[in-house]
Amino acid sequence: MSILVHSSPGTRRRVLISGASIAGPTLAYWLNRYGFDVTVVERAPAVRSGGYAIDIRGTALGVVERMGLRPQIDAAHIASRGLTFVDAQGETIGTVPIYDLTSNDLGRDVELPRGTLTDMLYSLTRESAVCYRFEDTIEAINGDENGVHVRFRSGIHDRYDVVIGADGLHSNTRRLVFGSEETYSHYLGFAFNIFSVPNNLGLSQEAVLYAEPGRIAGVFAIRDCPDLFAFLIFAAERPPFSAHADRAEQIERTAALFEHGGWQVPRLVEAMRHADDLYFDTVSQIRMPSWSKGRVALVGDAACAPSFRAGQGTSMALVGAYVLAGELATHDNPEEAFAAYERIVRPYMEANQALAVRDAANIIFPRTQQDLDARNQMLASIRSDQSGTTTYRDTEAEAAHNALELCDYD
Ligand SMILES: Cc1cc2nc3c(=O)[nH]c(=O)nc-3n(C[C@H](O)[C@H](O)[C@H](O)COP(=O)(O)OP(=O)(O)OC[C@H]3O[C@@H](n4cnc5c(N)ncnc54)[C@H](O)[C@@H]3O)c2cc1C
Repeated sequence: MSILVHSSPGTRRRVLISGASIAGPTLAYWLNRYGFDVTVVERAPAVRSGGYAIDIRGTALGVVERMGLRPQIDAAHIASRGLTFVDAQGETIGTVPIYDLTSNDLGRDVELPRGTLTDMLYSLTRESAVCYRFEDTIEAINGDENGVHVRFRSGIHDRYDVVIGADGLHSNTRRLVFGSEETYSHYLGFAFNIFSVPNNLGLSQEAVLYAEPGRIAGVFAIRDCPDLFAFLIFAAERPPFSAHADRAEQIERTAALFEHGGWQVPRLVEAMRHADDLYFDTVSQIRMPSWSKGRVALVGDAACAPSFRAGQGTSMALVGAYVLAGELATHDNPEEAFAAYERIVRPYMEANQALAVRDAANIIFPRTQQDLDARNQMLASIRSDQSGTTTYRDTEAEAAHNALELCDYD
């Protein structure tokens, strides 16, 4: 694979990336390394730090390794011990071990706070010639065979060789170029609230889940943090879209659904009411027949969000960005590059999206009493298998996580 170098200022291909989270800065890093002139536009005033724990697994570990980030990422590894399922009285039903602390299981998955990863990616690209434009967004895109004309909300107009949407599940670039989100969004039957709550339970490096049919409450402790990430997830036949616009309605809807919940549910509902970081969304995937049109392409959640039921959105964003950059660098014609990118990564993306809709995902998202019974049976079988240090292995998921072998582009 040979990189097409265009290094003199007049011939450097200009790329605009919308979104500075995971896919955006990863793509920016590689494109800059390959000699492109890269601008990243981000709606927020800064790269958003903080956030829940995310995972880097399988093929995606090869991407961070090639970026020289592996030592930093390993150092940030949270190494959660396990996911404990409790009943209404808070009694343990069973625990799924996640990382084996005794063997410092870093050869496999790495789990770190989302904000730690975005900060690392941003710092890496800040050291380079990548230009960031915060508090701005694309307002109009018009492409022809020679380039893409972009109008920003700030009033700036500019021309690029290609534009990439790395702006997430609710991508603005996708809406402008491919049409409304409803066409591509596949609702998976659940909505969630996520917010922080003081760690009064004394939890450390672990998650606790309580479920009733169609209602799941949980908390996640990142190391010994004074605050826990709490979530209240509920099943709803139709997506509760009206709740997007109305915070009060969303809170009341959730509170009513969880009204008679056991365990810590009343405390979590109260915390949700007063949270200043409450985030609400539906559990949905993005499925598109094609991720590019002319000189515009999508990557990460914008192209193929798997939903957090798959736990693979971050890895998919890293892998997609790496391959997209490599293909752009090895093709002069962007449309050919986009076709190659899609041909290479689509099977991997689809294998990982499928993880979110298999029966095993009902372990964490039980919709019915039958799902709960199956979950309890599974927990009982893990319990009887354990010899003290065994880590639970999900071989079907591992196959999807490793479903692509990365190509070397430089
Ligand atoms: C509650 C929750 C839990 C999750 N848990 C996990 C997990 O355990 N493991 C895992 O791997 N993944 C998890 N994910 C998914 C993971 O966060 C995403 O898949 C991943 O962040 C995708 O990265 P991205 O860069 O494609 O998009 P995003 O991270 O969504 O970033 C999009 C960026 O674009 C910016 N943007 C949006 N609109 C515009 C605009 N109009 N103009 C300019 N910029 C814009 C945003 O501000 C943001 O910076 C979870 C997600 C959620 C919501």
